[in-house]
Amino acid sequence: MHYSKLVEVYEKLESTTKRLEKTKILSDFLKKISDDEIDHLMLLVQGRVFPNWDQRELGVAIKLLIKAIKITTGAEEKKIYDTLKKTGDIGETAEQLVGKKTQSTLFSKELTTKQVFNTLQKLEVMEGEGSVDRKLQLISELLTSAKPKEAKYIIRTIISDLRIGFGEGTVRDAIVWAFFGEELEIKYDEKENKISFPEKDREKYEEYNTKVQGAIDLTNDFVEVAKAAKKGITTVKELSLVLGSPIKVMLYQKAEGIKDAFETVGKPAACEFKFDGFRVQIHKKGNKIKVFTRRLEDVTKQFPDVVEAVEKHVSNDCVLDAEVIGYDVKTKKYLPFQSISQRIRRKYDIHEMVEKFPVEINVFDAIYFDGKNLLKEHFIERRKILEKNLKQKPFVFKLANQLITSEEKEAEEFYKKSLNAGNEGIMMKNLEGIYKPGSRVGYGVKVKPVMETLDLVIVGAEWGSGKRGKWLSSFTIACQNDAGEYLEIGRVGTGFKEKIEEGTSFEEMTELLKPLIISEKENEAMVKPKIVIEIKYEEIQKSPTYSSGYALRFPRLLRLREDKSPEDCTTIKQIEKFYKEQRGRN
Ligand code: AMP
Repeated sequence: MHYSKLVEVYEKLESTTKRLEKTKILSDFLKKISDDEIDHLMLLVQGRVFPNWDQRELGVAIKLLIKAIKITTGAEEKKIYDTLKKTGDIGETAEQLVGKKTQSTLFSKELTTKQVFNTLQKLEVMEGEGSVDRKLQLISELLTSAKPKEAKYIIRTIISDLRIGFGEGTVRDAIVWAFFGEELEIKYDEKENKISFPEKDREKYEEYNTKVQGAIDLTNDFVEVAKAAKKGITTVKELSLVLGSPIKVMLYQKAEGIKDAFETVGKPAACEFKFDGFRVQIHKKGNKIKVFTRRLEDVTKQFPDVVEAVEKHVSNDCVLDAEVIGYDVKTKKYLPFQSISQRIRRKYDIHEMVEKFPVEINVFDAIYFDGKNLLKEHFIERRKILEKNLKQKPFVFKLANQLITSEEKEAEEFYKKSLNAGNEGIMMKNLEGIYKPGSRVGYGVKVKPVMETLDLVIVGAEWGSGKRGKWLSSFTIACQNDAGEYLEIGRVGTGFKEKIEEGTSFEEMTELLKPLIISEKENEAMVKPKIVIEIKYEEIQKSPTYSSGYALRFPRLLRLREDKSPEDCTTIKQIEKFYKEQRGRN
């Protein structure tokens, strides 16, 4: 396919904010994709060159893109920076400057999607000496053959920010509409911006949606799901868990207290310590063990101690859900999450880190065990399998402390015991709940004493002044809406430390955010939404200043949430709910 055809789709998607219209545009496009082009087009249309579960990144800095634009268009560097300041978008900068270039590209061949895709993928594998020059050459070659609008989207794909505002939910719906739209008689009314289908098909429509979402949660791979959907719903149903590829984890709702928790999960319920560590999904296939974070990042290399513990304590193939917690070797007390969070990102001196920050693994669920997929098994059965098969050793590898009870008093006692042991609270789980990947279904709830904190994504930052001159020191934070767009809710600069040894510091934040800078205007930088921070605040207020319509009173950093991805951040619906609840209390 010509790249210009895909660009037309991007442009259409960018021109509307209506989610249903976006779904229609995407689904019309998906319908037209041929079998031999689906692999790369399904990714490109989402602005990706690797599947969701793939950790590879293109690693191209803005500076390099500026250089490439300079080489291709002959524009002065100052001119490029000025355009960037004006547009606030490096993609649009490329579009404008490529449009102005004098030399004619009339004779160059039209770019194809495959060509763009292959070239962009090549950017990733390049490392070592000369790799920057080679990357520059490849990008420049692409831009030379590109028309202005094509240049815009090539650049935006390189920085993994298409800016056309749709989330995974829209892609899922588009798959359903594209491949089952006819069967389900789905009709989209553009004027009314509404969809309709015969009432008799409602159940079927919901079933198909659930099946497609289930397949996405299980495989975490839109390409595979779209390919299966193209073949029919039976093929979608047949997609299954693959040992070694991470699947989305089940999420938990919040309860207001023990009584409320029992109301959601029923009686009797399993109460468990809620450890303040970070979640890992462990896959074991023979002697191959992999460790993923809840964002499904592969952190096997960073955690050789977890791998060793699994080797020693489990002999069957399995997929386990567990919380890894740090502890003080001398006092044997659990440590808060921050103390071990640096292990997640650390790429060197791993063994030193293992000794300095030892961890205990607390297994609390199983998704697969000994050849059997456990997704449909009741929680109590899954737990029994773990109890029967796992060897346990305190401070190394154990099962989450659990109490099954119907008594509020007993649950309260257990809650106190958990808090006294340095945990965050307790989880309470429905004994008959199945494992629902990616959903906050209420088969389990958390009970914590503190006011609900918010997990917000950093979308912008401001360079400091004076002694903070070289650091980013104030951060624009955002929640998300249903379409996966980020809505600003305020700025935070409190709670960060001056010195790296004291905790999450401005220096650390600057290191994390600098490579994510998309554009800069004066001392304000826009950053790619990637870093999630947990925020405490005094009150949520209505505010016209920010795009969410809300602002936070006295926001303060609680901690960096390396374990959470932007898609996990607090939603505008939750903010609305917290806002109302807080008003109810006043
Ligand atoms: P939250 O991050 O506040 O939404 O709370 C849910 C998280 O608590 C899970 O994702 C786990 O990382 C963590 N957790 C700690 N202990 C348990 C447990 N026993 N069962 C389930 N999740 C747990």
